Amino acid sequence: MTGLDEKISYLQGLIKGMGYNEDSNEGKLFITISEILESMAIAITTMEKEQAELEQYVEVIDEDLSLVEDELLDIDDFDDLDASRYIEIECPGCQETVYFDEDIFDNDDDIICPNCTKVIYSEDKEKEIERLEED
Ligand SMILES: [Zn+2]
Repeated sequence: MTGLDEKISYLQGLIKGMGYNEDSNEGKLFITISEILESMAIAITTMEKEQAELEQYVEVIDEDLSLVEDELLDIDDFDDLDASRYIEIECPGCQETVYFDEDIFDNDDDIICPNCTKVIYSEDKEKEIERLEED
């Protein structure tokens, strides 16, 4: 703490040195004020200590999080993911190889190539897709 303890001690000495009667109104007032200041200084010191501990803890969490982020960024190809969930299709429009989650085939909507936006799968084209998958 930046000299707060010392300043309060000095203030308390000053009040004492002024020779107020502790039972007088002024005496009671100044003693009470200095006691409150002392309590506040103790509370601030405790908070500063806890704050420092918290900052240290957050730093450790931040470092751990960086490791997790690095780990996640390494997963940049489908081999590292659950590859069985993804269906690889070569788009007949742009010949780009695109991947779709298998769940997308469960609904009746057409599947659009994310590259050229051509419809590359619809219910009536199902046979062609099966042929492409076998390649
Ligand atoms: Zn395409």
